Amino acid sequence: MSENVNSENCSHQCEGCSVENCGARQNPQSLLIEPDSRSSIRRIIGVVSGKGGVGKSFVTSMLAAEMQRRGRRTAVLDGDITGPSQGKAFGIKEKAYGDGELIIPAYTKSGIQLISTNMLLENDDTPVLWRGPMVANILKQFYQEVYWNNVDVMFVDMPPGTSDVPLTLFQSFKLDGIIVVTSPQELVSMIVEKAINMANTMNVKVLGLIENMSYVECPKCHEKMYVFGKSHIDATADKFNLPVLARIPLDPAIAEASDAGTIEDIEVPQIKEAVDFIENL
Ligand code: ADP
Repeated sequence: MSENVNSENCSHQCEGCSVENCGARQNPQSLLIEPDSRSSIRRIIGVVSGKGGVGKSFVTSMLAAEMQRRGRRTAVLDGDITGPSQGKAFGIKEKAYGDGELIIPAYTKSGIQLISTNMLLENDDTPVLWRGPMVANILKQFYQEVYWNNVDVMFVDMPPGTSDVPLTLFQSFKLDGIIVVTSPQELVSMIVEKAINMANTMNVKVLGLIENMSYVECPKCHEKMYVFGKSHIDATADKFNLPVLARIPLDPAIAEASDAGTIEDIEVPQIKEAVDFIENL
């Protein structure tokens, strides 16, 4: 039988208390924050990676571009506060402005709502040298103090690593799940395990894996060359019982489009299955 602690006897100091199945303990105070009442965000998907440079930001923009093409109202929150790249990839030059109450996000060419640290800096090249608490605060502001206009799916380009900043995000955003991006030359199993542990601790679901830079395809004969060696993603996916949502080739056009700010003009057929999966969640 479950023990009931009546509120008069409860000191609310759960640590050291012997009543394990107390209602207060089972429902610890949530640290989740809500967007402003004018905003609406139906689904939030985080995109994570074990280290920088594997294409986490690129995959985030591709998922968003494809989702928007399907007529879903899509948003990108660039949570990589100290290494923002979404503004540049989508060719956003304007700075953020407010309507007196909320910050208005940029709208990309195809209508994706986007917020990124670049939009707060006078000069895009200014390095962001902010300490953890400030970065965490900006993240929360991006969520709470931006006018997210009737968004069906928001993709969050998650801050890298497992420091307090990504933890803040995991704790405070109501994530529907995360997607882990890896590349073939990484120690995939370890990265996925870390991501799963972090997500489990925070009660967030890992939806699946995306392998980026999987291979190079010869433009003439279409032969696939596995320049980074044999992929270990299938073994990892089996081990953790997760789907591989996409394998994206290394393609110079991708890097060019990111630099030119025309990332949403690119269509990566391999991303479609991942977007189907998200739509069917
Ligand atoms: P991360 O967010 O993991 O640090 P980025 O998405 O910023 O990585 O990608 C790093 C660089 O690699 C960028 O210049 C990007 O344009 C490029 N890149 C990413 N994926 C590919 C790909 N599949 N083919 C070619 N270039 C890519």
